[in-house]
Amino acid sequence: MEAIKVLPNKKEQTKSDELVQKERDKKILKVVEDIFQSYLRKKGHRSTPERLKVLREIYSSPEHLDADEIFMNLKLKKANVSRATVYNTLDILVECNLVSQNSFGHKHLHYERSYGYKKHHHIICENCGRVVEFTSPKIDQELSGICMKHGFKLKRNVLQLFGECIDDSCEGKND
Ligand SMILES: [Zn+2]
Ligand SMILES: [Zn+2]
Ligand SMILES: [Zn+2]
Repeated sequence: MEAIKVLPNKKEQTKSDELVQKERDKKILKVVEDIFQSYLRKKGHRSTPERLKVLREIYSSPEHLDADEIFMNLKLKKANVSRATVYNTLDILVECNLVSQNSFGHKHLHYERSYGYKKHHHIICENCGRVVEFTSPKIDQELSGICMKHGFKLKRNVLQLFGECIDDSCEGKND
């Protein structure tokens, strides 16, 4: 069992860690905005403040939001971004690899930031919907290798594993 460590300045420690993360997030967002704007230009799309708001909304959260949640969050912030703009901006963001999408077995898609954040896959509980993220350089390497072998360069992938919690506290277990 792990011993309880008493750290006198744990609070400060956490706070400075948080600050470092915030600084990092800010830097990533700056880079991502540049990439997005040049991608829009390249593809002949207009770079509008509304599109950038969608991008910022996703990059300000570690969560897996669906399009309606993104739309509602923006609405709460009085950002004045239409649902149609949210949807078509999401498509472009996925296309240029700045945002990744997962269905988690739902009929809609969930979106999350990907540039500058650790590449990961998901395991979903079919009973309660719990989502766990995991990383596996081994799997990533294997997938790249498979693509290569078939004459492709892997650009993105969606790997979702469906299971059920072993824990009895899993809500929605129906036995
Ligand atoms: Zn969903
Ligand atoms: Zn569960
Ligand atoms: Zn994720």
